[in-house]
Amino acid sequence: MNKVKEDKTKRLNELVAIVKLVLLLLCGIIIFQKCLKERNIYFFSEYNWQEIFLVVSTTFVLILIYTLWIVFTNKRSKYKRSIIQHGENVFFLLFFIYLIIHSGGYLSPYKFIFILIIITTNIQLGMNSGLVISAVSSIFILTLDLISVKNVPINTFFENDLILSGVFILTSISLGYYVKIEEEHNAKLSEMVNIDGLTGVYNHRYFQEVLKEKIKESEKLGENLAIIFLDIDYFKYYNDLYGHQNGDKVLAIIGSILKSNVREKDVVARYGGEEFAVIMPNTFEKEALQIAEKIRVAVERYKFQGEENQPNGNLTVSIGVSSFPDKAKNDLELLKSVDDALYRAKFFHKNRVESYYSVLEELKKDIEEEHIDLITSIKTLISIINAKDRYTYGHVERVVVYCKLMAEQLHLSEKERKILIYGAYMHDIGKINIPEEVINKRMPLTKEEWEMLKQHPQNGVDIIKPVESLKDTMPLILHHHERYDGSGYPDGLRGKNIPYLARVLTVVDSFDAMTSNRPYNTKKSYDEAIEELRKCSGTQFDSILAEEFIKVITSNKSKFDEM
Ligand code: GH3
Ligand code: MG
Ligand code: MG
Repeated sequence: MNKVKEDKTKRLNELVAIVKLVLLLLCGIIIFQKCLKERNIYFFSEYNWQEIFLVVSTTFVLILIYTLWIVFTNKRSKYKRSIIQHGENVFFLLFFIYLIIHSGGYLSPYKFIFILIIITTNIQLGMNSGLVISAVSSIFILTLDLISVKNVPINTFFENDLILSGVFILTSISLGYYVKIEEEHNAKLSEMVNIDGLTGVYNHRYFQEVLKEKIKESEKLGENLAIIFLDIDYFKYYNDLYGHQNGDKVLAIIGSILKSNVREKDVVARYGGEEFAVIMPNTFEKEALQIAEKIRVAVERYKFQGEENQPNGNLTVSIGVSSFPDKAKNDLELLKSVDDALYRAKFFHKNRVESYYSVLEELKKDIEEEHIDLITSIKTLISIINAKDRYTYGHVERVVVYCKLMAEQLHLSEKERKILIYGAYMHDIGKINIPEEVINKRMPLTKEEWEMLKQHPQNGVDIIKPVESLKDTMPLILHHHERYDGSGYPDGLRGKNIPYLARVLTVVDSFDAMTSNRPYNTKKSYDEAIEELRKCSGTQFDSILAEEFIKVITSNKSKFDEM
């Protein structure tokens, strides 16, 4: 919409520039005629070539200067352009005053010329500026009449110019009003185009437009920009129970709760069906988290009709927060990061606010400068695998969360904690070479497919091999499918021969595989999965580590939303 408006202003400015150029040409002719008359030379009889050359070239130079001026000032900011336009108008006003005096003062037949600058001022700068120009023009021609025409019973020049002044003022008022009405009308239309009809907040298209704009602005000013994503918890459930019409009422209420809990400068939008987003310019993440929490509490406290039948007895929302430039370098990364944060909020039992956390950002701090690019590639690889593996969306993120808790439980040193988390993050990158059909296959795998799948630990190691600082992470990636009884792959290691942290990762990875939807088995509840861990202790898992992990899950269970 801004582009449309800019285009309109640009075309109007072009039109006005042409009018002003032609005006300069007309002024040149007036001066030219006057000069000829002064020397009693008539247009088609005798020529004074020197004189003609002088006037024509002066006019030409004036036009040239003005053309260059337009080109030079065209790209200026809106504010600077309006100052330039004011300056131009003052110049034209003074020039016309000179012209009138030059062409006969009160007798000049060109007093009407002011009307043109009154029109262009109204179009470009609005009614107030137009009125100032018409007032100055009127005062000038009327004063000229009063000063110049004396000792006459009736000053007819003054009387006639009174009418001309009336025309100036009237033109200014009518045109000015027209421009104002049109601007208000356009503002209303663009508001309607940008607003979501159901919730009264901005729509998705406007959100995208503003986000790009605000990021550019923040970049220029070196400011922070925060963003929040909000998704209603169990909304499908509510809709199924009370129908979409009642669901729509909830959406409208959440729209107004959002609007009343953000600041003037924030932009609230409906991002999708039941998802909202808020852009917070010049805001640090900490402040955004506080506002997000305020919103979460406001929704939690609001008494929605029939909310007592929701799975958690209340209609709530989950919120993700991220910020530019700390967590993301551009708009796309920012959207991805805030989406991840929202996903985490859903995972941690919903009705929560979570900020974006990236293992990679932590990793970047520990890694040699020359390998930073590889980390970015790893990030891309992981998002490709996530996209391929539709059954295990969020698997990596959940394994990282569990591993962090496990690191605390096992009192790992800072170094070991990092190795475990990096390993958790990258354990599946070798899957990049495996076709999507194999990853998502429901049937048991063929021998060849199984062989291919068994290659993924080695492939993963091959990918990160060039990075010296990831050396310690390699054993985790290579051995996360070994079994305690020696029947795993790729090396069939047994018991304590399997690296300690790889044994930890095996337990965590398997637990998440059991509790999330997989193509080859049905999802288990947390309790069923704990049972399974116990059953396979000593054969598949290190029994001590399995027990430690069960402790982690039981004590944190209330925090997780079982996927
Ligand atoms: P979760 O807690 O994981 O977010 O669960 P959910 O039920 O909210 O799941 P999901 O986000 O997948 O469901 C989105 C639902 O939102 C599906 C649809 O019924 C509802 N929805 C989307 N757009 C509209 C809308 O314009 N009006 C109404 N009434 N419902 C909508
Ligand atoms: Mg949703
Ligand atoms: Mg939802």
